[in-house]
Amino acid sequence: MSKQAVTVIGLGPMGQAMVTAFLENGHPVTVWNRTASKADELVAKGAVLAPSVEDALKANELVVLSLTDYDAMYAILEPATAALDGRVLINLSSDTPDKARAAFEWAAGHGAKHVTGGVQVPPPLIGKEGSSTYYSGPRDVFDTYKETLEVITAADYRGEDPGLAAMYYQAQMIIFWTSMLSYYQALALGKANGVSAKELLPYASNMMTMMPHFLELYAQHVDNAEYPGDVDRLAMGAASVDHILHTSEDAGVDTTLLKAVQDIFQRGMGKGFEANSFSSLIEVLKKPSA
Ligand code: NDP
Repeated sequence: MSKQAVTVIGLGPMGQAMVTAFLENGHPVTVWNRTASKADELVAKGAVLAPSVEDALKANELVVLSLTDYDAMYAILEPATAALDGRVLINLSSDTPDKARAAFEWAAGHGAKHVTGGVQVPPPLIGKEGSSTYYSGPRDVFDTYKETLEVITAADYRGEDPGLAAMYYQAQMIIFWTSMLSYYQALALGKANGVSAKELLPYASNMMTMMPHFLELYAQHVDNAEYPGDVDRLAMGAASVDHILHTSEDAGVDTTLLKAVQDIFQRGMGKGFEANSFSSLIEVLKKPSA
Protein backbone atom coordinates (compact mmCIF):
# COMPACT_ATOMS: atom_id res chain seq x y z
CA MET A 1 0.00 0.00 0.00
CA SER A 2 1.36 3.46 -0.87
CA LYS A 3 2.37 5.63 2.04
CA GLN A 4 0.41 8.76 3.01
CA ALA A 5 1.73 11.86 1.24
CA VAL A 6 2.45 14.80 3.53
CA THR A 7 3.22 18.49 3.23
CA VAL A 8 5.64 19.97 5.77
CA ILE A 9 5.68 23.75 6.21
CA GLY A 10 8.59 25.07 8.28
CA LEU A 11 12.11 23.80 7.77
CA GLY A 12 13.97 24.80 10.90
CA PRO A 13 16.04 22.03 12.51
CA MET A 14 12.83 20.30 13.64
CA GLY A 15 10.99 20.46 10.31
CA GLN A 16 14.07 19.24 8.46
CA ALA A 17 14.40 16.23 10.79
CA MET A 18 10.71 15.42 10.28
CA VAL A 19 10.94 15.61 6.50
CA THR A 20 13.98 13.33 6.58
CA ALA A 21 12.12 10.80 8.74
CA PHE A 22 9.09 10.83 6.40
CA LEU A 23 11.30 10.38 3.34
CA GLU A 24 13.29 7.57 4.92
CA ASN A 25 10.01 5.80 5.63
CA GLY A 26 8.81 6.09 2.04
CA HIS A 27 6.31 8.96 2.42
CA PRO A 28 6.08 11.40 -0.51
CA VAL A 29 6.83 14.84 0.99
CA THR A 30 6.10 18.33 -0.32
CA VAL A 31 7.83 21.15 1.55
CA TRP A 32 7.65 24.91 1.82
CA ASN A 33 9.71 27.34 3.87
CA ARG A 34 10.00 31.14 4.00
CA THR A 35 13.73 30.75 3.39
CA ALA A 36 13.59 28.39 0.40
CA SER A 37 17.28 27.44 0.51
CA LYS A 38 16.64 25.39 3.66
CA ALA A 39 14.88 22.88 1.39
CA ASP A 40 17.96 22.19 -0.76
CA GLU A 41 19.23 19.11 1.07
CA LEU A 42 15.71 17.74 1.46
CA VAL A 43 15.02 18.11 -2.26
CA ALA A 44 18.25 16.19 -2.89
CA LYS A 45 16.82 13.43 -0.67
CA GLY A 46 13.55 13.33 -2.64
CA ALA A 47 11.27 16.04 -1.24
CA VAL A 48 9.35 18.31 -3.63
CA LEU A 49 9.69 22.06 -2.99
CA ALA A 50 6.35 23.80 -3.62
CA PRO A 51 6.71 27.17 -5.36
CA SER A 52 4.16 28.81 -3.03
CA VAL A 53 2.31 28.19 0.22
CA GLU A 54 -0.89 27.67 -1.82
CA ASP A 55 0.80 24.95 -3.85
CA ALA A 56 2.13 23.32 -0.69
CA LEU A 57 -1.37 23.26 0.81
CA LYS A 58 -3.01 21.99 -2.37
CA ALA A 59 -0.43 19.20 -2.78
CA ASN A 60 -1.67 17.10 0.16
CA GLU A 61 -4.57 16.77 2.57
CA LEU A 62 -2.16 16.19 5.48
CA VAL A 63 -0.12 19.29 6.37
CA VAL A 64 2.44 19.30 9.18
CA LEU A 65 3.42 22.72 10.53
CA SER A 66 6.77 23.08 12.31
CA LEU A 67 7.14 26.80 12.99
CA THR A 68 8.62 28.94 15.74
CA ASP A 69 5.17 29.78 17.09
CA TYR A 70 1.54 30.33 16.09
CA ASP A 71 2.20 33.90 14.94
CA ALA A 72 4.50 32.43 12.27
CA MET A 73 1.64 30.14 11.22
CA TYR A 74 -0.74 33.08 10.74
CA ALA A 75 1.97 35.03 8.89
CA ILE A 76 2.28 32.13 6.43
CA LEU A 77 -1.31 30.86 6.15
CA GLU A 78 -3.41 34.05 6.40
CA PRO A 79 -2.57 35.08 2.81
CA ALA A 80 -3.37 31.52 1.62
CA THR A 81 -6.63 30.73 3.45
CA ALA A 82 -8.44 29.92 0.19
CA ALA A 83 -6.29 26.77 -0.03
CA LEU A 84 -7.10 25.59 3.50
CA ASP A 85 -10.49 24.02 2.77
CA GLY A 86 -10.34 20.26 3.36
CA ARG A 87 -6.80 20.30 4.79
CA VAL A 88 -5.76 18.63 8.04
CA LEU A 89 -3.27 20.79 9.90
CA ILE A 90 -1.04 18.95 12.37
CA ASN A 91 0.46 21.91 14.17
CA LEU A 92 3.71 20.91 15.86
CA SER A 93 4.71 24.51 16.57
CA SER A 94 5.02 25.45 20.25
CA ASP A 95 2.78 28.05 21.85
CA THR A 96 0.22 28.52 24.60
CA PRO A 97 -2.90 26.35 25.11
CA ASP A 98 -5.15 29.36 24.44
CA LYS A 99 -3.43 30.04 21.12
CA ALA A 100 -3.92 26.38 20.16
CA ARG A 101 -7.64 26.61 21.00
CA ALA A 102 -7.98 29.80 18.94
CA ALA A 103 -6.13 28.18 16.01
CA PHE A 104 -8.54 25.24 16.06
CA GLU A 105 -11.47 27.67 15.65
CA TRP A 106 -9.60 29.73 13.04
CA ALA A 107 -8.82 26.60 10.97
CA ALA A 108 -12.44 25.39 11.23
CA GLY A 109 -13.56 28.80 9.94
CA HIS A 110 -11.55 28.08 6.79
CA GLY A 111 -12.76 24.49 6.39
CA ALA A 112 -9.61 22.92 7.83
CA LYS A 113 -9.13 20.52 10.75
CA HIS A 114 -6.49 21.36 13.35
CA VAL A 115 -4.69 18.95 15.65
CA THR A 116 -2.27 20.39 18.21
CA GLY A 117 1.06 18.72 18.85
CA GLY A 118 3.87 19.26 21.31
CA VAL A 119 7.12 17.52 20.38
CA GLN A 120 9.04 16.33 23.44
CA VAL A 121 12.41 15.61 21.89
CA PRO A 122 15.11 17.59 20.04
CA PRO A 123 15.62 17.18 16.26
CA PRO A 124 18.32 14.43 16.47
CA LEU A 125 15.80 12.14 18.21
CA ILE A 126 13.09 12.54 15.54
CA GLY A 127 12.36 9.13 14.03
CA LYS A 128 14.16 7.38 16.89
CA GLU A 129 12.98 4.98 19.61
CA GLY A 130 11.90 6.63 22.87
CA SER A 131 10.76 9.91 21.29
CA SER A 132 7.22 11.15 21.84
CA THR A 133 4.79 13.94 20.94
CA TYR A 134 1.65 15.05 22.76
CA TYR A 135 -1.42 15.44 20.57
CA SER A 136 -4.86 16.87 21.26
CA GLY A 137 -7.90 17.77 19.21
CA PRO A 138 -10.48 15.72 17.34
CA ARG A 139 -9.89 12.03 18.14
CA ASP A 140 -11.15 10.77 14.77
CA VAL A 141 -8.70 13.03 12.90
CA PHE A 142 -5.83 11.97 15.14
CA ASP A 143 -6.69 8.29 14.68
CA THR A 144 -6.80 8.68 10.88
CA TYR A 145 -3.22 10.02 10.73
CA LYS A 146 -1.71 8.36 13.81
CA GLU A 147 0.26 5.77 11.84
CA THR A 148 1.85 8.43 9.64
CA LEU A 149 2.61 10.69 12.62
CA GLU A 150 4.31 7.79 14.39
CA VAL A 151 7.02 7.96 11.73
CA ILE A 152 8.38 11.08 13.45
CA THR A 153 7.81 10.10 17.11
CA ALA A 154 5.50 7.96 19.22
CA ALA A 155 2.10 9.67 19.46
CA ASP A 156 0.61 10.36 22.89
CA TYR A 157 -3.03 11.50 22.49
CA ARG A 158 -4.09 13.62 25.49
CA GLY A 159 -7.71 14.53 24.71
CA GLU A 160 -10.21 16.48 22.60
CA ASP A 161 -9.39 19.95 24.00
CA PRO A 162 -7.03 21.51 21.39
CA GLY A 163 -5.14 23.23 24.23
CA LEU A 164 -4.23 20.04 26.10
CA ALA A 165 -1.18 19.05 24.05
CA ALA A 166 0.22 22.55 24.48
CA MET A 167 -0.55 22.45 28.23
CA TYR A 168 1.31 19.12 28.66
CA TYR A 169 4.20 20.48 26.60
CA GLN A 170 4.42 23.70 28.62
CA ALA A 171 4.17 21.76 31.92
CA GLN A 172 7.18 19.71 30.80
CA MET A 173 9.03 22.87 29.79
CA ILE A 174 8.37 24.47 33.20
CA ILE A 175 10.10 21.47 34.76
CA PHE A 176 12.91 21.57 32.22
CA TRP A 177 13.79 25.28 32.38
CA THR A 178 13.50 25.65 36.14
CA SER A 179 15.39 22.39 36.81
CA MET A 180 18.18 23.41 34.46
CA LEU A 181 18.43 26.82 36.15
CA SER A 182 18.70 25.11 39.52
CA TYR A 183 21.51 23.00 38.04
CA TYR A 184 23.36 26.12 36.86
CA GLN A 185 22.81 27.67 40.30
CA ALA A 186 24.53 24.66 41.88
CA LEU A 187 27.33 24.83 39.32
CA ALA A 188 27.83 28.54 40.09
CA LEU A 189 28.29 27.67 43.76
CA GLY A 190 30.73 24.92 42.79
CA LYS A 191 32.71 27.30 40.55
CA ALA A 192 32.95 29.85 43.37
CA ASN A 193 34.47 27.11 45.51
CA GLY A 194 36.87 25.78 42.88
CA VAL A 195 34.74 22.71 42.06
CA SER A 196 34.19 22.08 38.35
CA ALA A 197 30.93 21.14 36.66
CA LYS A 198 32.46 17.75 35.85
CA GLU A 199 33.24 17.13 39.52
CA LEU A 200 29.67 18.00 40.55
CA LEU A 201 28.09 16.04 37.68
CA PRO A 202 27.74 12.62 39.39
CA TYR A 203 26.21 14.23 42.48
CA ALA A 204 23.76 16.32 40.42
CA SER A 205 22.80 13.21 38.43
CA ASN A 206 22.31 11.24 41.63
CA MET A 207 19.96 13.94 42.96
CA MET A 208 17.92 13.72 39.76
CA THR A 209 17.59 9.92 40.04
CA MET A 210 15.88 10.44 43.43
CA MET A 211 13.29 12.80 41.96
CA PRO A 212 10.73 10.20 40.72
CA HIS A 213 10.25 9.05 44.32
CA PHE A 214 9.46 12.62 45.43
CA LEU A 215 7.24 13.32 42.44
CA GLU A 216 5.11 10.27 43.17
CA LEU A 217 4.79 10.99 46.90
CA TYR A 218 3.88 14.65 46.41
CA ALA A 219 1.48 13.93 43.54
CA GLN A 220 -0.64 12.07 46.10
CA HIS A 221 -0.47 15.00 48.52
CA VAL A 222 -1.49 17.48 45.82
CA ASP A 223 -4.37 15.40 44.41
CA ASN A 224 -5.70 14.68 47.91
CA ALA A 225 -5.11 18.31 49.04
CA GLU A 226 -3.54 16.82 52.18
CA TYR A 227 0.01 17.72 53.15
CA PRO A 228 1.02 15.58 56.13
CA GLY A 229 4.26 16.75 57.73
CA ASP A 230 5.26 13.24 58.81
CA VAL A 231 8.36 13.03 56.59
CA ASP A 232 9.19 16.68 56.03
CA ARG A 233 7.93 19.93 57.53
CA LEU A 234 7.72 23.24 55.70
CA ALA A 235 9.52 24.97 58.61
CA MET A 236 12.49 22.61 58.11
CA GLY A 237 12.43 23.29 54.36
CA ALA A 238 12.31 27.07 54.93
CA ALA A 239 15.39 26.85 57.18
CA SER A 240 17.18 24.81 54.51
CA VAL A 241 16.31 27.39 51.84
CA ASP A 242 17.76 30.11 54.09
CA HIS A 243 20.96 28.04 54.28
CA ILE A 244 21.34 27.70 50.51
CA LEU A 245 20.61 31.41 50.06
CA HIS A 246 23.20 32.43 52.66
CA THR A 247 25.75 29.92 51.30
CA SER A 248 25.30 31.45 47.85
CA GLU A 249 25.51 35.03 49.17
CA ASP A 250 28.71 34.14 51.04
CA ALA A 251 30.13 32.66 47.82
CA GLY A 252 29.29 35.84 45.87
CA VAL A 253 27.05 34.14 43.29
CA ASP A 254 23.77 35.52 41.92
CA THR A 255 20.86 34.83 44.28
CA THR A 256 17.85 35.93 42.18
CA LEU A 257 16.54 32.39 41.83
CA LEU A 258 17.10 31.47 45.47
CA LYS A 259 15.37 34.63 46.70
CA ALA A 260 12.34 33.72 44.62
CA VAL A 261 12.38 30.23 46.18
CA GLN A 262 12.70 31.74 49.65
CA ASP A 263 9.77 34.06 48.93
CA ILE A 264 7.51 31.12 48.05
CA PHE A 265 8.51 29.25 51.21
CA GLN A 266 7.87 32.35 53.34
CA ARG A 267 4.43 32.77 51.82
CA GLY A 268 3.65 29.14 52.71
CA MET A 269 4.80 29.82 56.28
CA GLY A 270 2.61 32.92 56.29
CA LYS A 271 -0.39 30.76 55.43
CA GLY A 272 0.31 28.68 58.57
CA PHE A 273 1.69 25.59 56.85
CA GLU A 274 4.89 25.35 58.92
CA ALA A 275 3.98 21.92 60.37
CA ASN A 276 2.78 20.59 56.98
CA SER A 277 4.86 19.00 54.26
CA PHE A 278 6.44 21.48 51.85
CA SER A 279 4.02 20.04 49.26
CA SER A 280 1.62 22.54 50.90
CA LEU A 281 3.38 25.17 48.75
CA ILE A 282 1.01 24.11 45.96
CA GLU A 283 -1.55 26.20 47.88
CA VAL A 284 0.67 29.25 47.25
CA LEU A 285 1.21 28.44 43.59
CA LYS A 286 -2.12 27.17 42.30
CA LYS A 287 -5.09 29.10 40.98
CA PRO A 288 -7.34 29.60 44.04
CA SER A 289 -10.35 27.86 42.46
CA ALA A 290 -8.39 24.86 41.07
P1 NDP B 1 12.96 27.43 14.39
O1 NDP B 1 12.46 28.60 15.13
O2 NDP B 1 14.41 27.25 14.20
O3 NDP B 1 12.33 27.35 12.88
C1 NDP B 1 11.00 27.28 12.65
C2 NDP B 1 10.53 27.71 11.30
O4 NDP B 1 9.66 28.82 11.52
C3 NDP B 1 11.51 28.12 10.23
O5 NDP B 1 11.14 27.42 9.07
C4 NDP B 1 11.25 29.62 10.05
O6 NDP B 1 11.42 30.08 8.72
C5 NDP B 1 9.79 29.69 10.41
N1 NDP B 1 9.32 31.03 10.78
C6 NDP B 1 9.49 31.67 11.96
N2 NDP B 1 8.89 32.88 11.94
C7 NDP B 1 8.33 32.99 10.72
C8 NDP B 1 7.55 34.00 10.10
N3 NDP B 1 7.23 35.15 10.74
N4 NDP B 1 7.15 33.80 8.84
C9 NDP B 1 7.44 32.66 8.19
N5 NDP B 1 8.16 31.64 8.73
C10 NDP B 1 8.60 31.81 9.98
O7 NDP B 1 12.33 26.20 15.16
P2 NDP B 1 12.70 24.64 15.22
O8 NDP B 1 12.74 24.05 13.88
O9 NDP B 1 13.86 24.42 16.15
O10 NDP B 1 11.41 24.11 16.01
C11 NDP B 1 10.12 24.15 15.44
C12 NDP B 1 9.10 24.01 16.54
O11 NDP B 1 9.36 22.82 17.27
C13 NDP B 1 9.13 25.18 17.54
O12 NDP B 1 7.83 25.55 17.88
C14 NDP B 1 9.87 24.59 18.73
O13 NDP B 1 9.45 25.17 19.96
C15 NDP B 1 9.46 23.12 18.66
N6 NDP B 1 10.45 22.26 19.29
C16 NDP B 1 11.77 22.42 18.97
C17 NDP B 1 12.72 21.65 19.60
C18 NDP B 1 14.18 21.85 19.27
O14 NDP B 1 15.01 21.34 20.04
N7 NDP B 1 14.51 22.49 18.17
C19 NDP B 1 12.35 20.63 20.61
C20 NDP B 1 10.92 20.48 20.79
C21 NDP B 1 10.02 21.29 20.16
P3 NDP B 1 12.85 30.57 8.17
O15 NDP B 1 13.64 29.30 7.94
O16 NDP B 1 12.55 31.31 6.95
O17 NDP B 1 13.44 31.42 9.27
